[in-house]
Amino acid sequence: MTSASTRSTGISKLRPKMSYQCLSCSCTMEREVLSLGAQPVSNALVRPETVGSGERFFPLNVMICDACHLAQLVDCPPADVHFHADYVYFSSFSDSWLEHCQRYAEQMISRFSPRPGALMLEVASNDGYLLKIYRRLGYPVLGIEPSASVANAAIGAGVPTEVRFFGKSLGQELAGRGIAPEFIVANNVLAHVPDLNDFAAGFPPLMSDRTVLTCEIHYFRDLIEKNQFDSFYHEHYSYFTVAAARDLFQRHEMRLFDVERLPTHGGSLRLYMCRAQSHHTNTDRLRDTLADEQTFFDALPIVLDDFQKRVFDVCTSLRQFLVDMRREGRSVAGFGAPAKASTLLNMAGIRRQLLPYTVDNNPTKQGKMLPGVHIPILSPDAITIDKPDFLVILPWNLRAEIAANYDVIRQWGGRFVVPIPKLEIF
Ligand SMILES: [Zn+2]
Repeated sequence: MTSASTRSTGISKLRPKMSYQCLSCSCTMEREVLSLGAQPVSNALVRPETVGSGERFFPLNVMICDACHLAQLVDCPPADVHFHADYVYFSSFSDSWLEHCQRYAEQMISRFSPRPGALMLEVASNDGYLLKIYRRLGYPVLGIEPSASVANAAIGAGVPTEVRFFGKSLGQELAGRGIAPEFIVANNVLAHVPDLNDFAAGFPPLMSDRTVLTCEIHYFRDLIEKNQFDSFYHEHYSYFTVAAARDLFQRHEMRLFDVERLPTHGGSLRLYMCRAQSHHTNTDRLRDTLADEQTFFDALPIVLDDFQKRVFDVCTSLRQFLVDMRREGRSVAGFGAPAKASTLLNMAGIRRQLLPYTVDNNPTKQGKMLPGVHIPILSPDAITIDKPDFLVILPWNLRAEIAANYDVIRQWGGRFVVPIPKLEIF
């Protein structure tokens, strides 16, 4: 077990020595969520030929602002340590995500009745997976995506895409060009944004009183209550609560008028925003969710203390399972090489002696190794050749889909394992 895990049992969550300012409201923060110590950059997969040549580690410490209730990384590494280009995630790879997007688009149209020809704009539009759905439904679309490789895939598929970072200046520029969308969507991007206020300020110039902006984000409350500490990694600057989102958008003349809790990514929020003076009325669901969330905030010191102990338990259980299996001579492999696997395996101190390899469908990850723990990433073909007794699903949020797709392991008596929210064999 690493020393970082030992620290997680500590009672003190106040960090009075250093002064940290909230990314959103700039208040001074004192409340610690979790300190994971020095961790490798989660998406910096290691090439076998470069092992031992100066892998970089940075602190991975999370705090929460007591004023606006935004949880966030402190002591962030410089932005240039992230290597987006190599490991871009093509959203269209996941069937369950595409179904989720189809339902979302239909629900938005039926609820808000956009005018014929209304423009649909997506920020962080990836390879155009969602905008293709709107286009099929008959609406003009525009994507904004800073990563050229995926943006070019979208453009190639007929989805107009600006290859740019979104923020205040781009919002103003697009508005100046007459871009006036009725729907704006920004899914799973807020956590990756280092300057939240500049990002939020990009929306109002593009919004009329009809415009609805929706954002989906992993919910900090689910993260805490379901032991999802592996969602803490250097690419995720912030972890949202409903109250934190309300305050951020309010600061930029927008109003949160509805919220939904979704099962995606282990528990997400879908936030609905409009201009402050728009006709959309605040829903009872929003009022109830905020009230319920307040009870969570009221108990936060106890909740976080308990969370730190549960993180320790999750790490211990997984490690003990792997030690026992090794002792019994049973074979184990991993499935998936998501960023979250880096946090989990580094925290639990699991290296290739206990988990000899993992497999991933993404060809750009194959042949490399998970950072820090140096577990090799192979093609999924390795599973049918090797026939492991246990397959540990590292992207546990996709457990149903992965278990269905790799049902073949049942042929040799193989079983699946998920480590989070607690170790489960099925
Ligand atoms: Zn704050």
